[in-house]
Amino acid sequence: MPKKKMKKFDCEIAILGSGFSGLGAAMALEKRGISDFIIFEKAAKIGGTWRENIYPGAACDVRSIMYSYSYAMNPNWSRAFSPGYEIQAYVEDVAESHGLMGRVRCNYGVSALKWEEGGWTVTTEAGDILRARFIISALGPLHVPVRPDIKGFADFKGTMMHSAEWQTDYDVTDKKIVVIGSAASAVQIVPEIAKKAAHVNVMQRSANWIVPREDKVFAPWQKKLFKHLPFTQRLIRWKFYLFSDLRFSAFRGEHKWLNRIMKRMITRNMEKRIDDPELRKKIIPDYAIGCKRILLSDNYLETLNRNNVSLNTDGIDHINASGISTKSGAQIDADLIVLATGFDPTRMLGNIKVTGLGGVRLEDQWADKIQAYRTVHVANMPNFLMMVGPNSGLGHLSIIFMIEQQATYIAKLIAQMKKRDLKTVSVSRSVEDSYNMELQEALKTTIWHSGCHSWYQDKNGHIFSLWPHRTTTYWWHLKIAKMDALDFE
Ligand code: NAP
Repeated sequence: MPKKKMKKFDCEIAILGSGFSGLGAAMALEKRGISDFIIFEKAAKIGGTWRENIYPGAACDVRSIMYSYSYAMNPNWSRAFSPGYEIQAYVEDVAESHGLMGRVRCNYGVSALKWEEGGWTVTTEAGDILRARFIISALGPLHVPVRPDIKGFADFKGTMMHSAEWQTDYDVTDKKIVVIGSAASAVQIVPEIAKKAAHVNVMQRSANWIVPREDKVFAPWQKKLFKHLPFTQRLIRWKFYLFSDLRFSAFRGEHKWLNRIMKRMITRNMEKRIDDPELRKKIIPDYAIGCKRILLSDNYLETLNRNNVSLNTDGIDHINASGISTKSGAQIDADLIVLATGFDPTRMLGNIKVTGLGGVRLEDQWADKIQAYRTVHVANMPNFLMMVGPNSGLGHLSIIFMIEQQATYIAKLIAQMKKRDLKTVSVSRSVEDSYNMELQEALKTTIWHSGCHSWYQDKNGHIFSLWPHRTTTYWWHLKIAKMDALDFE
């Protein structure tokens, strides 16, 4: 039977996702004169994290000044740590001012990607089939909500919602609320809902290191200064950048003394903020600072002092029709259960079925270990380029920095390939493996390997989420990256 001829490409590049990384990739391509791309967005409007996470108190725990593209600084941030809706508005503004709105196909979720005949066949959730030579996966690692495996989950008769699926029409006033989880999302939600709720019970499984955020409103004169003399904002940005990247030493084993000093200072600060001595004991973690993400909050610990807030560390035995039964046998009734239980980064591609060279499924390839080469390329997946891919997350600085380096690298690579009339780029499994052996060796010296469990690791303790060095090293790593480690056709 004659072989079916594939249709020619509908676009040269399909970018999946229209959050910071998808738009960042698009802008980097445009800068290099490449405009034959389509941005696929599953939702009805652009954005990513900040379109999805609209729970009460949602705000960024990275300074606003650091949380923008370096080439599109925003003089209008209202606060040092801006609320989520303001970041979403910034993302929309950038897309608009860079002419990207028309390049995004909203309500266009992708369900499958298949490598065949020198390109990717993209199947959408609506059943459309398109062809693209390159895929830029810009989905981000934190978008598949974790629903904890707790007995009786389906028995609860009240309302249950994950932090990333907040029902904005739900009124928390005078409600009995249980929050499962006490990490980054919970510390933002609890202070807000406690203002109105009858009672909030926080179910804490592990304590977290919490430092003051020191949020403040930007005065009108500061905004004017940033607007008319943008270098002032850039200077401040540089100051925070350098300070934060230097602080990375505390995350590395070689400076244990630094971590110990930080631990002492932060413990003292946390204890000072809690009134009840019994409660004080519960909130101090038993692992090294930075092993899990350090949380920033000016009001979470203070909120635990309120009469209508309790911190429960008994552990959850099961969920029942009216609430939660703890391991100590207590019943906690709830009208609302909030799942502040995070996301599953091992499913960073969500439900998209990716089939690469020789029918290899990415899901199977990553079943044992999630890894990539230079955080961008994946073996057996030609022309598949990842933004915020394996080992490119950070525990100490703004992810936007990493996004910009990846976008620049990808755009440069595609531009070079076009210039040399090269059609495919891939990485061999052996190159990817030896790269990751080095990466994992470096990770062993970091604080993330010091014995706690976090979403930075998979179930076997393999750290696949974080970059093990300073961000300046990452910048240099991608900047000088030689193309001869890759295979081209
Ligand atoms: P997370 O850091 O993964 O924390 C999940 C919480 O749920 C933890 O306290 C965890 O306890 C608890 N948990 C999970 N399963 C449980 C179970 N079966 N029983 C009891 N407790 C359970 O999730 P997150 O707070 O949503 O934050 C995720 C990431 O999103 C953050 O690390 C951060 O990168 C990002 N984020 C950023 C911001 C921002 O401002 N930029 C805000 C929110 C989130 P254990 O610690 O014991 O596992």
